[in-house]
Amino acid sequence: MNTLNATHDPKLRSWVASANEAGSDFPIQNLPFGRFSHSPDSTPRIGVAIGDRILDLRKAGLIDTDDMNALMAASPGKRAALRALISQGLAEGSARQSEWEAALVSQSAATMHVPCRIGDYTDFYTSVHHATTVGKQFRPDNPLLPNYKWVPIGYHGRASSIGVSGGSFKRPRGQTKAVDADIPSFGPSKRLDFELELGWFIGEGNPQGEPIDMEGAESHLFGVALFNDWSARDIQGWEYQPLGPFLSKNFASTLSPWMVTMEALAPFRAPFERVSDDPQPLPYLDSPANRAQGALSITLEVLLQTAKMRDAGEAPVRLSGTNTTRAAYWTPAQLVAHHTVNGCNLQPGDLLGSGTLSGPNADEAGSLMELTGSGKQPVVLANGEQRAFLEDGDTLILRGWCESPGTVRIGLGECSGTVVAS
Ligand code: MN
Repeated sequence: MNTLNATHDPKLRSWVASANEAGSDFPIQNLPFGRFSHSPDSTPRIGVAIGDRILDLRKAGLIDTDDMNALMAASPGKRAALRALISQGLAEGSARQSEWEAALVSQSAATMHVPCRIGDYTDFYTSVHHATTVGKQFRPDNPLLPNYKWVPIGYHGRASSIGVSGGSFKRPRGQTKAVDADIPSFGPSKRLDFELELGWFIGEGNPQGEPIDMEGAESHLFGVALFNDWSARDIQGWEYQPLGPFLSKNFASTLSPWMVTMEALAPFRAPFERVSDDPQPLPYLDSPANRAQGALSITLEVLLQTAKMRDAGEAPVRLSGTNTTRAAYWTPAQLVAHHTVNGCNLQPGDLLGSGTLSGPNADEAGSLMELTGSGKQPVVLANGEQRAFLEDGDTLILRGWCESPGTVRIGLGECSGTVVAS
């Protein structure tokens, strides 16, 4: 796991003034990677967010590629060396300031893209609170299946429909069946939901047949972004047995544009703990480092802006929020070790979704299905509107950040998406 170094120094300030403002998601201690272009159809370039700007890494003379996946595949040592160079060059007093000012782009003028080429996408189910609440709705007498506390449950999702924050997608149509109906019907989903997730990106891959053990797992992770795994609950409820979710999930997912690196997350580690009544992980999912600091503390928040609110110029309202230490039953390292234990090969740019991150309390739920009791108790918004599930024109926003005493707060930015009529 990454250790603290000069790039994490809380006293470090940047000559990019906006990076030093309190509450900025992108101070010099963060330095997340993303792909941007000057217009929607020009070739994406690799950039690092600093304050309200982007440093164009190729223009700054730091790299000679536009291929993010190649950069992600570099060894942790090479990645740390690049981070150190970026940090030194952006720090107050750097001799590179005048040269690098020409390599800065305003974030508001740039088009952001999905941060890398995602070959494969796996979605996990790491919140025991989400699994229990949702399990109760589908199976009142048997909410948490017996494998849950032993196996990091996951399924293979679809990468082609993953988009970047700021976009919109059409409400999916599909086959659904009401509990009291004899036969299914077809039409637009009436129970469209969001899922508050994190997306973990694979850096260096592993050859097929060679599992990644717990000791090495973190060195194969590149970083993390916010991830909304939009879900059509009515389609899901009818299709999910026996092989799991399919068309209820693969119509769209949304990522935030910036990958916050494992190096940047180093000050925000937390112990991995299991209450004594729960089984301890099998040896292949266990390590001293994982127990000591395998978890991460990331605060997460969900906001909603309806079309009516947007028309009235009203800001988004908060629906819920939690922290990963309260929500995640498995650590990122355990997801990597489990995914590869059978010999499965992960590749640079692969995405591992955390699953819906719901905390233990009702107001920490990461989906509307949980917040509204499967639609039975709609949420009442500040303007009087109600939501059981998402309606056309709704914009759902995820935010995330890390903070801890003696450190500079870093943010994950924003992951927003808008539902349009089918
Ligand atoms: Mn999901």
